[in-house]
Amino acid sequence: MRRDDITPDLLYDLYWNKEMSIRKIATYFKSYQHTILNLMKRFFIPTRTRSLANKISNRRGSGHPRWIGGSFVTPQGYRLVMEKGHPYSIDGGYVLYHRLVVENHLSRYLRPEEVVHHINGKRDDNRLENLMVFPDSKTHLKYHAKMRRYKGYHE
Ligand SMILES: [Zn+2]
Repeated sequence: MRRDDITPDLLYDLYWNKEMSIRKIATYFKSYQHTILNLMKRFFIPTRTRSLANKISNRRGSGHPRWIGGSFVTPQGYRLVMEKGHPYSIDGGYVLYHRLVVENHLSRYLRPEEVVHHINGKRDDNRLENLMVFPDSKTHLKYHAKMRRYKGYHE
């Protein structure tokens, strides 16, 4: 992936929604940690505090307050489930549940650049009929911009 392809939206998503570490993001883009950090600074993406970083890396089993039967909900409201052996799992083997729902339906893995959108804006409503796939974050953002023109639309 070329450096130009690392968009603010994608970087924010990997870091804050998918909770990937700077090291993992650098590996993912075949880039360097200092390059990723510089880009985050340039895009005004906040970095995690030490305590939040520890919380994420220490999250294990029933010790976590938001742990529900093998999965947990991120601070952003997305459900992550343990899926060992998934090619795009993040730290510790977790995958975003709404992506798994779509993958099961399509019988293929989603490419990392594909974005799954929650139609009614509820991030915990992972019914197939509430999910929509975009080929990349650019198309996804375009859709959001279009929908914002309609009164009362959110997320
Ligand atoms: Zn969306």
